[in-house]
Amino acid sequence: MKHVVSVSGGKDSTATYCRAIERGLPFRAVAADTGNEHPATYEAVNTLHEKTGGPKVEWVKADFADRIAGKRRFIERNWEDHGVPADLVARALDVLHPTGNPFLDLCLWKGRFPSRKAQFCTAELKVMPIDKQVTRPLLATGATVISWQGVRAAESIVRRDLPPFQRLVSHNDLPGRLYVFRPLLRVTSVDEVFAIARRHGVEPNPLYGWGLKRVGCFPCINCSKAELALVDRRFPEQVDRLEEWERLVSEACKRGHATFFAIVNDPIMRDEWVDLDRSGNIPNDLIGAGFGVRRMVEWAKTDRGGRQYSLLNDQLHQDIGTACNEWGMCG
Ligand code: SF4
Repeated sequence: MKHVVSVSGGKDSTATYCRAIERGLPFRAVAADTGNEHPATYEAVNTLHEKTGGPKVEWVKADFADRIAGKRRFIERNWEDHGVPADLVARALDVLHPTGNPFLDLCLWKGRFPSRKAQFCTAELKVMPIDKQVTRPLLATGATVISWQGVRAAESIVRRDLPPFQRLVSHNDLPGRLYVFRPLLRVTSVDEVFAIARRHGVEPNPLYGWGLKRVGCFPCINCSKAELALVDRRFPEQVDRLEEWERLVSEACKRGHATFFAIVNDPIMRDEWVDLDRSGNIPNDLIGAGFGVRRMVEWAKTDRGGRQYSLLNDQLHQDIGTACNEWGMCG
C-alpha cells in the first residue's frame, strides 16, 4: 500500500502531512509547481521535512512544450486561411515558445487565462501532473494507492457530504486501486488545523499573516478584491509579472488580447466590454486600451460607487469553494 500526501504550502495540506507523520506509516509527499506561487510558499514546502522529520516533498511540474509546438503547427497551417491578419500570425509564432513556467506556458498554449467558468488551471497544473507523474506510475505497478487530501467538511457546502474514505474508479485501466483519504474532514476550526502543524514545529505560511485567506497561486484567478489590493500593496512586482504575462498571452491569442482576471467579472468593465463587443470595434490591443490586471488593481483599491464588487465574494468563496480547494490543493 502506498500513501501519497498532496502538499500546497497551505494550512490544510500541511496539517494533513503532519497527520500522516502521526500515523507512523511511510508516505510520499508531492506538490505541484504552478510557476505562480509566492516565494514564501516554495520555502514552506521545501523546508517541511526539516521542521517535521517527515519525507521531503517532491515537486511535479506540467510541461506544455509538445502542446505549444502543436499550436504553432496549427497556426502556421490555418490562421491566415481563417482571416487572421499576417502580422498577428507572425506575432503569435514569435511568442509561442515554452518558457518553462507552467502557468504561463498553459496560457500561451490556450491563448487565454483560466477563469472561474473555465478553470482549466487546477486540472492542467495540479491534478494531472500529480496523476501522471506519481499516481498512475504507482497504480501501474499494481499498488493500492491512498491519496491523502486536506479538505474539511466545515469549509464549504460542496465538502459537507464528502466521505472520509472513498474508492475512485477513475483509473480502472490500471491494475492498482486508488482511494482518497480525507483525515481533516471532521476538523472544524482553522485554529485546530494550525495547532496540528504547530505540534510538529511548523508555523503558518506567512501569507496568512499578511491577510490572504488561501495559499495557492499568488494571486489566484479567484482571489478576492481585498486580496488583490493586498498583493499590489505588499508585492507590486507580482502585478508587474502578471502585466507582462498578459502582454505575452495577448500576442499568442487570435483576438490579440487576454487578461489575467476575467474582465466580465467587474460590473463597470463588463459594460464597457459588452459595448466593445456589440460595436464590433474591439481594439487589437485591449491592454493598451486600459483593460487588464493593472486596471483591476486600481479598481481593487477603491471602496465606493459601483466598484464594491468582489472578484469572488469572500462568502461565496467560502460557501462553494474552488476547484483547487475541492482537491485540497490550496488552503
Ligand atoms: S490556485 Fe487559483 S489560479 Fe492557481 S491553479 Fe488553483 S484555481 Fe487556478
